[in-house]
Amino acid sequence: MSEPVYLDYNATAPLRPEALTAMLPVLRTVGNASSPHLPGKRSAEQVAAARKEVAALIRCSSSELIFTSGATEANNLVLRSSLKYAKHLITTSVEHPAILETARELSREYGVQLTVLPVDGNGRLDYAALKVALKIEGTAVVSVMAANNETGVLFDLGKIAAEARKHDAVIHTDATQMVGRLPVDLSTLDVDYLTLSAHKFGGPQGVGALFARSGSDRALLPAQYGGGQEKGIRAGTLNVAGIVGAGAAAAAANETMSAEVSRVLRLRNELESELVRRIPMVRINCSAVPRLPNVSSITLFGAPADALIAQMPDVAASDGSACSSGVPGPSHVLQALGMPQDEAECTLRFSLGYGTTSDDIKRAIGAVERAVHLVRSFVGYSIADESASQHSIRVRHRSIGTSRNYV
Ligand code: PMP
Repeated sequence: MSEPVYLDYNATAPLRPEALTAMLPVLRTVGNASSPHLPGKRSAEQVAAARKEVAALIRCSSSELIFTSGATEANNLVLRSSLKYAKHLITTSVEHPAILETARELSREYGVQLTVLPVDGNGRLDYAALKVALKIEGTAVVSVMAANNETGVLFDLGKIAAEARKHDAVIHTDATQMVGRLPVDLSTLDVDYLTLSAHKFGGPQGVGALFARSGSDRALLPAQYGGGQEKGIRAGTLNVAGIVGAGAAAAAANETMSAEVSRVLRLRNELESELVRRIPMVRINCSAVPRLPNVSSITLFGAPADALIAQMPDVAASDGSACSSGVPGPSHVLQALGMPQDEAECTLRFSLGYGTTSDDIKRAIGAVERAVHLVRSFVGYSIADESASQHSIRVRHRSIGTSRNYV
């Protein structure tokens, strides 16, 4: 059997060939980037070059980047550090668990006030709720993602920052899904901190970075104590090969950005329009608002996503129901949109990327169409009944979920 069509770039993107090529010689040579001898200096130079490449991708200075093990760590670093100075955390109901779970823990353990802002049915932020939250006494940290990992919905960070600055709030954005996919320009984007992760844009897994605007790093609590690496904020021997891979992936993403945005958007739109044309009772979620060009959240009424995935082994997509707490259930993001549970259970996420081809999309369309047909016939779903009743669809089939981690 050939490899499945990979449409799960939001979970992780395949390593870019440029990243692999850059990493291989580093993996074959020795050198601790903190050592004073030649091999050490060579590693330090490789890290410095990669830091510049990552900085160029988001238009910041390389001295403003702290390398971490990924976005989860960078998000934890910012939120935990806020214990030093903030009384109030303001975030949204659709953040990744790396934000939501951290914020909830800080609130439970340390009594930090927490406001989780709601979104509307299209995933747009409730600005009225943001304004009310910002009026609360004491320094606030506003942490709002740049783009949602499940729906692709983009948040208007400029507008959020303008509101937050009126109240001297500190601003963080988890831009894990946006960096490398759309231009990010920190010379104009008014945030104090930004999180990114290399494996979402074709770098290796296990490498991320926190951007801390010049001076803002002083407010950070060390993630861990040790040998003083990364300005003492993230001690530990640097992952030289991983960082070099992140740099090469950032350079490749930067170079191809504008052509890729339109190419991937065209493929995503083809996927959506063909599925809508070929399959009755399909809804593209959040299509009325600005979204990432590479993501599609699609509800296929009457066809549970886990059954669809089982019926289309030649496509790797996400069912959006993997749960962080070990208790399987519909995604918290789809719930936050107000989507009924039975619809959320019938929702797939497709996420495309630099390696996705037109052939991949054609194969995926055929596979999804066949799987929906099959699954709807298993569960006894009737389009005629549904169209006639105009009611929201009740899924008769209930899957027995297994506990998985959130990706
Ligand atoms: N934030 C968002 C928005 C994400 O999509 C992810 C990964 N799915 C993370 C954080 C966690 O990233 P990492 O795997 O680098 O820890």
